[in-house]
Amino acid sequence: MTSTLLSRQARRRRRSPLPAMLLALVCAGMAPCAAGAGDAVLGADLRLRELTRLAERSNPQARALLLQEAPRFTGSAPYAVQLQFLRLLRRIHSDAGQLGEAYAVDERLIKLASGARDPLHVALASLGRVHKRLNDNDPAAAMALLESLNGQYRELGNPEFEANAEVAYGAIYNTTGQHDRALGHYLRALELVQRNAALWSPREADVRLALARLYVNSDNPAKALETTRAYREARAGQDAIPPRVEALMHFMDGRAYVSLNQLAQAHAAFNRALALARRHELRWIEANVLGNVSDAWLRAQRFVEAERAARAALAPSEEVKDQSIIQMVNANLGFALFGQGRMAEGTVYIDRTTEELRKAGAMLAVSNILAEKSEALERAGLHRQALQTVREREKIQETLSVERRNKAFAALQEQFNAKQRGAQIERLRQENAVKDAELRNRNLRAALASLGALLALVLCGFVYMLYRKSQATGRRLAELNAELAHRSAHDPLTGLFNRRSFVERMREQPAAGAAGVAADCFTLLDIDHFKRINDRYGHAAGDTVLVEVGRRLNEVVRGSDMVLRWGGEEFLVYSQGVSEAQRPLLVQRILNAIAAAPVVLEDGTALAVSATAGAVSLPFGAGPAFGWEQAIALADRALYKGKEAGRNRGFIVEGLEGPQADPSCGATGERELRLHLVLPDMHWQPAQ
Ligand code: GH3
Ligand code: MG
Ligand code: MG
Repeated sequence: MTSTLLSRQARRRRRSPLPAMLLALVCAGMAPCAAGAGDAVLGADLRLRELTRLAERSNPQARALLLQEAPRFTGSAPYAVQLQFLRLLRRIHSDAGQLGEAYAVDERLIKLASGARDPLHVALASLGRVHKRLNDNDPAAAMALLESLNGQYRELGNPEFEANAEVAYGAIYNTTGQHDRALGHYLRALELVQRNAALWSPREADVRLALARLYVNSDNPAKALETTRAYREARAGQDAIPPRVEALMHFMDGRAYVSLNQLAQAHAAFNRALALARRHELRWIEANVLGNVSDAWLRAQRFVEAERAARAALAPSEEVKDQSIIQMVNANLGFALFGQGRMAEGTVYIDRTTEELRKAGAMLAVSNILAEKSEALERAGLHRQALQTVREREKIQETLSVERRNKAFAALQEQFNAKQRGAQIERLRQENAVKDAELRNRNLRAALASLGALLALVLCGFVYMLYRKSQATGRRLAELNAELAHRSAHDPLTGLFNRRSFVERMREQPAAGAAGVAADCFTLLDIDHFKRINDRYGHAAGDTVLVEVGRRLNEVVRGSDMVLRWGGEEFLVYSQGVSEAQRPLLVQRILNAIAAAPVVLEDGTALAVSATAGAVSLPFGAGPAFGWEQAIALADRALYKGKEAGRNRGFIVEGLEGPQADPSCGATGERELRLHLVLPDMHWQPAQ
C-alpha cells in the first residue's frame, strides 16, 4: 500500500520538474534542511502541484482553495513555496480574466523576489507590468518598459523570461496593429516553449491562442481556424485539453467564422465555448463570448437575438468587472433595442456606454459607437438626432485624428527612445563587461606586478646580500691581500719594511749608482749592547726597544725615506736626495732620535738606548760596479769601526784609501776607509 503510494508519488515527480526544482530551491535557502521542515516543504509543494492541476480543470475551485490555504504558503513559508504560491495565484487570476488581481500579484512577486535577490523572478513578474500598461491602453509605455527589461535581463539566458518577453512583444504589436511583427514574436515564443517543455509559463496553448487571436485581428480568419485545428490535432491522444483552453479555442473559431460571415458556424462555435465556460464557471469567457454573440447577431441584424445575448452577457460581465466587456455588452444591447425601434430604451444604454468610454478616454470607441448610433437613428427615421450624432462624432473625430497623430508620433518616439534605451543598456552592459574584464586584467596585472615587485625586492635583497657578502668578501680578500702584501713587505714586530721589500725597491728603482750627483744615502744601524737588554730585562723588553727604535727612526726621516729592519737589532735607513753637507746631519739626527730619550718599559723602567751607524752615499767614487749591495757592505764596515771606536756614534764612509786590491775582492776590497765621524749631540744616561 505504502510502496504503491510512494511509487506513484515518485512517478508523478518524474513527470514534472517542478517539485524537484522547488525542493532544490528550498534546500538551497535553508541549510541544513531539518527533516520536519523538509516534510512541510514537500507537503506544501505537493499541495501546490495539486492545486495547479485543479486550476486547469476548475479555475474558481482552485482559486477558492488556494486563497483559503494561503497562510500555509505565505508568511514564514520558505521563499520557494511563497514564490510558487504567488505564481499559481497569478495564473489563476489571469486565466479567470481577473487582470487587476493578476497585476496586483505581479507586484507582490516583485517585492518577494527582490527581497530574496532573485533577479529571474523579478524580471518575470516585471513583464506583468508590461501587460498592465498595454491593458491601460498605453502601448508606448508598455514597449518602453519591455525594451528596458529585455536589455536588463536578457543576459540571464532564461528561456521562461525570453519566451514571456516574446509574448509581450507580440501582444504590444498586436494591439498597435503591427501584425507582421507580432506574428514573428509569437512564433519565436512558440518555438521556445516547444523547445523547453517544462516551462511554467507561457503555456503552449496560450501562445497558440494568442496566434489565433492575431490572425482574427489581422483579417486572416482561415489561418486562425487552422491554428486551433492544428492544436487540437496535436493534442489528440494526450491529456484532455483544459476546459479554459478548449472554450477559448471555440471562441476564437467563432470570431473567425464571424469574420468569414459564416454565422451558423460562428454560433455553433460560440455555443460550444459557452457550454464549456458555463460548465466550468469560466465567467470571463462566458461574458466575452456572449458579448461577441450579440455582436454577431447585430451584424446579421437579428436584433431580438442580439438583445437576448447582450442581456445574458450583462450579469457575467458585471461579475468579472471587465469594463471593456461591460461597455461592449451595453452598447450592443442599446443597438439591439434601436434595431427593434425601442429608441428611448436603447439610447439609455448607448449614452451610458459612451459616457463610460469618454471617462476612460477611449474616444475612438466613442466615435465608433456614435457612428453606429447615427446610422441606427437614420434607419429609424430620426434624422434630426442622427445629424446631431454625426456632428458630435465629427468633433470627436477631429480631436481624435490630431490626438491619434500625436499619439502615434509619441508612440513612435517612445518606441524609438525605448530602442535607444535598450541599445544604451546593451552598450552599457558590454562596456561593463569590458570594464570588468579590464579590471580583472588590471587586478591580475597588479597582482603580477606586486608579485614581480615582491620577487624583485626579494631578489634585490638577495642580490644585495650577495653583493654585500661579495663586497665584504672582496673587502676581506683585499684586506687579506693587503695584509699579506704588508706582511711580506714588513717586519712583523716593528712594522717597518723588511729586507725583502728593500731589495725589491732597489730592483725597481735602482739607487743613484754612478749617475753623478750624490743623492742616495744608506745608513746602517746596530743597537749597542742589545744582548744586555735582553739578558737583563727579558726578551719582551728587547722587543719593546726594537719597536720603539723603529718608531723613532720613522719619526726623524722624511716621508720619502725608507726605514727597514735589516735583521735582529739592525736597521737601515735609505734616504734619497741627500747632499754631502746634509749627510752628517742626517746621521746625527738618526743617532739623536735613538739616544736622546730612554725607552720606557711597561713597568716604568727607563732604558738608555743607543746605536752605532755606518753610512755610505751613492754614487760612490769606486766605479760603475759599485751598487747598493757594495754600499751596504761598506756601511757595515764603517759601523763595525764605530763599535770598535766606542759605540753611540756614526761613521760616514767618504772614500777609500790605499791601493786597489784584488778586483775579485770587490770594488772596495780591504782598502782603508776614509771616515767622517758623527756623534750624537745628546745622550740620555740613566741615573746611577
Ligand atoms: P753590540 O753592541 O756589539 O752590538 O752588542 P750586542 O749585544 O748588540 O751584540 P749582538 O749583535 O751580538 O747581539 C744581538 C742580540 O740581539 C742577539 C740576539 O739574541 C738579539 N736579538 C736578535 N733579534 C732579536 C729580537 O727580535 N728580539 C730580541 N729581544 N732580541 C733579539
Ligand atoms: Mg748586532
Ligand atoms: Mg748590537
